Amino acid sequence: MLPAEFLSRFASTCPPDLLNDALASFAAKEAVAFRINRLGAPAAEVVLAELATHGIEPQPVAWAQAAGIWAYTCPQEQREALTYTPAAGNGTIYIQSLSSMLAPLLLAPQGEEWVLDLAAAPGGKTILLAEMMNNGGKISAVEPVSARYHRLKANLARMGVGNTQTYLKDGRVVGSLKPDCFDRVMLDAPCSSESRFKTWDAASHEHWSPAKVSECAKKQKRLILSAFDALKPGGVLMYCTCSFAPEENELIVDHLLKKREGVRLLPIALGLPNSRPGLTAWKGKLLAAACAETRRVWPTGEMDGFYLALIGKE
Ligand code: SAM
Repeated sequence: MLPAEFLSRFASTCPPDLLNDALASFAAKEAVAFRINRLGAPAAEVVLAELATHGIEPQPVAWAQAAGIWAYTCPQEQREALTYTPAAGNGTIYIQSLSSMLAPLLLAPQGEEWVLDLAAAPGGKTILLAEMMNNGGKISAVEPVSARYHRLKANLARMGVGNTQTYLKDGRVVGSLKPDCFDRVMLDAPCSSESRFKTWDAASHEHWSPAKVSECAKKQKRLILSAFDALKPGGVLMYCTCSFAPEENELIVDHLLKKREGVRLLPIALGLPNSRPGLTAWKGKLLAAACAETRRVWPTGEMDGFYLALIGKE
């Protein structure tokens, strides 16, 4: 069973028409998603033919393919087989949840830009950003945890990423070291990871508590100020988490709006039936009305939950 307090908070924020599916998703063994790497990998048909020799016959994901991401899913039972294919080992494919692909897609980096990824390991979003930039421009990828930093470096090398410089650094200091520098900033913040909770995996939720949510929120408040400070005027920041907690999501955006001038929430058009506006009130407290421009992606059998805020700097 998931923690009762978590479930009651979840039920009080989830739209009623999505609640049953969302609750069922915590018990589901959902499909595993992956991307074919467009940085130097063979054509998609060649990769799919190779996967078929291992008994893996993935389904394309229509919305992602339409956006230029070669994303596919296959049944969860095939996760292990997929992980040990040569394609996964040599960087031809990258296993990544569908909701994680949304953040780079919405940030939409351009080939010649300078992009900051402020919480980068293990690198899934950095790799997709590099792919979208066709290895052009420049990415600075920051990660303070040594073991994760080395995993990030190894993943970037395996996937053929050539435009990224990595930094073993605390993201909270970057805004003051590099003010007004970056065209785009990705902040996939460290969070309580509530969307990864599974009823059949006690380890996924046994350390959750309201105190853990508050601890994450405290760090996220400093990280979002740092990310915004590092952004060029006219630039765009993506703030995202895989938590459902308003304290880690809308309240962080609300904090940024209160602490900095020139913050503008940009509209997010997702066109997914499980995506809804961000909250504008929590526990009787009103938040900035602009928080409604942010998006909550509620979990389904296919997608994990996610929170996305696209923020411009005037
Ligand atoms: N963006 C990554 C991806 O797509 O693969 C996942 C990032 S994960 C949600 C958050 C990361 O933030 C973790 O690797 C964590 O170690 C890192 N982190 C924790 N504290 C941090 C800090 N003060 N500054 C920057 N990153 C931090």
